[in-house]
Amino acid sequence: MKIQKMYIDGQWMKAISGQTRQIINPFNQEVIATVAEGDESDTKAAIAAARKAFDQGNWTKTPATERGAIVRKIAELIERDKEELAELESLDTGKTVEESRVDMDDIAGVFRYYAELADKDGGEIIDSPIPNTVSKVVREPVGVCGQITPWNYPLLQASWKLAPALATGNTLIMKPSEITPLTTIKVFELMEEAGVPAGVVNLVLGAGNTVGAELSRNVDIDLISFTGGIETGKKIMQAASINVKKLALELGGKNPNVVFADADFETAIDQAMNAVFFHAGQICSAGTRLIVEETIHDKFVDALVERVTNIKLGSGFDEETQMGPLISAEHLEKVEKYVETGKKEGAKVVVGGKRPEDPALEKGFFYLPTIFTKCTTEMKIVQDEAFGPIITVETFTTEEEAIKLANDSIYGLAGGVWTNDLAKAERCVAQMRMGTVWINDFNVYFPHAPWGGFKQSGIGRELGKLGLEEYTETKHILHNLKPEPINWFK
Ligand code: NAD
Repeated sequence: MKIQKMYIDGQWMKAISGQTRQIINPFNQEVIATVAEGDESDTKAAIAAARKAFDQGNWTKTPATERGAIVRKIAELIERDKEELAELESLDTGKTVEESRVDMDDIAGVFRYYAELADKDGGEIIDSPIPNTVSKVVREPVGVCGQITPWNYPLLQASWKLAPALATGNTLIMKPSEITPLTTIKVFELMEEAGVPAGVVNLVLGAGNTVGAELSRNVDIDLISFTGGIETGKKIMQAASINVKKLALELGGKNPNVVFADADFETAIDQAMNAVFFHAGQICSAGTRLIVEETIHDKFVDALVERVTNIKLGSGFDEETQMGPLISAEHLEKVEKYVETGKKEGAKVVVGGKRPEDPALEKGFFYLPTIFTKCTTEMKIVQDEAFGPIITVETFTTEEEAIKLANDSIYGLAGGVWTNDLAKAERCVAQMRMGTVWINDFNVYFPHAPWGGFKQSGIGRELGKLGLEEYTETKHILHNLKPEPINWFK
């Protein structure tokens, strides 16, 4: 099998050590690709290339309109190769091809959005209080960026980092998850085709504790943008302190979905299902904590169970499939352990709670969609991010109690509230401590709106104008038009 290579200083390279890694299809455990396995040496070479490209300044000094045109070209190439990319993403992650096609549209949309913003911020003249001075504020690129992505939305998460970094004139080194690097490799080919100059974008493949750790601690990196788990985020934060790198952290979530009795029942049920079982629950913003008003609890759970039983598990390439496998054997075991813990804590499995018995699925990392009732807020199954197809159901009787339960988490990524009482909805969202809150909706995001977390869900924002600002430093320039001696030190 051909070895897929890394991209450093405009060249496609094998790992210096010669090591490779096999990429596995989570549906049947077949090897789908062999890729170079880089380590600290390859990472240092990529950092040196990005540093050189930044310090030479060609990319930074390229007019913003031209940078925007290249970012737009990348969007066009992604649209051209949408089907190939979507199939590759599904092969690598197990998600349905239909879902991957939506991802590819979103990804092209992210490149298009930042292409349009590239030349829209020419700085600002501010009203100087000092006579005969001109005072202006401009934004400049941060410098060399290390970008580390997770396996659940490999290319989508990469696009949130690549597009704004390029639009603002930075250079970068990206490290995709070692489990799902295939679409990111392909997009580096497309960036080369779009005309991104050598050294500006670099791709190093490999493990977190080698490549990722080197990016986090290397003093030639000015900014680390990381999406992944909370424990990894803490390690990166610690390593990044060595040269006070700028940090952007998009960490996990344990997101509440609050349903009041006066909500539209059918829509709330339908969306509660989407909120958590999409991509087998492997979504940072999955609505895993269902918080339902006591009076509708039984009816709501019965309706959920009926629908959950009908979810069709299978290959992402089968049109009938609604849910694919989990990403890996290791992750499947983690999800199983959470379910066992939930049972020991006294929560009750009303559906699922095990691997499927269908022999057609036995080679894949499948887990049945699972609902826990009789949950209370202090339980581990309610507090920890299991990152699988699991809902916990809690109940409330008052608005205050609903808010208290929703906020009872170390995370603060996203949440939803379902009610037809608009004033109640506004009161609730004003008190919910999360970066995104949906009223009568769930899991909606687009390039124009910022995305990120309160509390331990992270630092900074991706998407929207704030996602662009993450990749800039702010400079204040004061120009004295009539310099004169001050005569303080005579
Ligand atoms: P992870 O933290 O295990 O890995 C993420 C990336 O970090 C991978 O590329 C990995 O190789 C790398 N890494 C691992 N150890 C490292 C180290 N010591 N130094 C530097 N890099 C290291 O996360 P995952 O399992 O790939 O992804 C799932 C997690 O990502 C979940 O917690 C999920 O909520 C989170 N996530 C968050 C968002 C968001 O927008 N907030 C989006 C997607 C995923």
